Order: sequence, then C-alpha cells, then structure tokens
Amino acid sequence: MFLVLLGAPGAGKGTQAAMISRKVGLAHIASGDLFRQAVEKGTELGQSVKAYMDKGMLVPDEVTIQVISERLNEPDCQTGCIFDGFPRTVEQAKALGKTLASQGKAIDKAIYVEVSDEELLKRLGGRWICRQCQTPYHEVTSPPRIPNKCDECGGELYQRSDDTEETVKERLKVYFVQTTPVLDYYRAEGKLVKVDGKRGIEEVSEEIIDVLGLKSVKAK
Ligand code: AMP
Repeated sequence: MFLVLLGAPGAGKGTQAAMISRKVGLAHIASGDLFRQAVEKGTELGQSVKAYMDKGMLVPDEVTIQVISERLNEPDCQTGCIFDGFPRTVEQAKALGKTLASQGKAIDKAIYVEVSDEELLKRLGGRWICRQCQTPYHEVTSPPRIPNKCDECGGELYQRSDDTEETVKERLKVYFVQTTPVLDYYRAEGKLVKVDGKRGIEEVSEEIIDVLGLKSVKAK
C-alpha cells in the first residue's frame, strides 16, 4: 500500500506517519527528515537545500523528486510506504504518480489531516523534536516524561531552526499557495480522504487506520 499524508506544517503528519508506520509495518519516507539529515551531515545535497529550509521555502522540485526516487528504490519500500511531507507541489505529485506507474504501482490513498490555522500556529510555536528518532513533542500539549529526553529512545530533544515565528509564517504561506493544489489533485483522482487532526494523536491514527481498512492490524 502506498499512502500520502497531506496537511499543513504542524498538522501532525509526521506524528501520524510514524505511528501508522509502526502499527502497520509500512516504511516511512519523510522528505523533511531526509533533507535535515543531509544538512546535519554536511553533504552536497545538505549544502544545496539548507538556505531554502532556513527561509521556509520549498526545495526545488527537481532536487526533491530525485531524493525521493532514490529512497523509493530501497528494499523496504518495494511493497509500500507512507509519504510524509511529499508531494508538496502538483509537479511532485505527478512525478510520483509516473515513477510508481512505471513499476506497475500507484498511490492508494491520500490522507488529508485537517487542522485550523490558529491551532497550527500554536502547535508549531512549542514544538521539540528528538534528534535521534524524530518523535515530536509539544511543551504544553504533549511534553516528554523527562524534560529534554525522548520517551521513545532517550535521545536529546531540539527545536527546529525553521520553527521560529517568522519562518513558521512563511512555511504556512508556502503551504497555502503551493501545496493546497495537491489536495485537489488527489481529490480529482478520487483518492483524497479527510480526517479531523484537531483530536488526540491516538484517535486520529485510529481513524486513519480504519479508513485504510487495516482494522485487524490495529487490534494486534
Ligand atoms: P518538513 O519537515 O516536512 O516540515 O520540511 C522542512 C523543510 O524541508 C520545508 O520547509 C522545505 O524547505 C523542505 N521540504 C521538505 N519536503 C519538501 C518537499 N516535498 N518539497 C520541497 N521542499 C521540501
């Protein structure tokens, strides 16, 4: 099963993708994580994408599509995966469709995690992320059990450099202009499913798993 998780920055796509990936055993491809790892390692790719990320702008489609295609060729993605943060433009969505079609595969569903603008700003403001396993926390709504330590792996928590107020506003603007057309793209293909992302993390993930017809797996 090939899934796309859509939603604004802060909607909970990453949290949901990680949770569903664990529950149903699908590989999790997060474009933002791939780029952040490249920046941390100081690779050529990292150096070329850093400026876009720091400003809250999208990395050019050509670069993004190349990175995702390479990741998609890895063995753990052959029977399915969850895309998180990709596609973010209609061009990326079309390229993904073509790549999958060339292998006789297709996106099964695009899940749109919907959250109000007010809530998005609130969530992005207090976000902390595990340096090791990328699990997100929030200072107010979902703090870690031990301050500054990840509940899952004990890793150190950090605040993303693009979670500053100014960059958050830019990322939201970019989302509304460049990424919302992707919703229409999957709606036209009859693949878009909307879920209410305002509710608790567990509730949202259960609804997504139900929508995908994966109930029995959830009960494990
Ligand atoms: P994220 O972790 O998904 O919020 O992504 C962080 C940043 O990485 C974004 O603000 C972009 O600069 C870049 N990025 C991640 N995914 C994409 C994508 N699909 N297309 C272009 N840029 C991306």
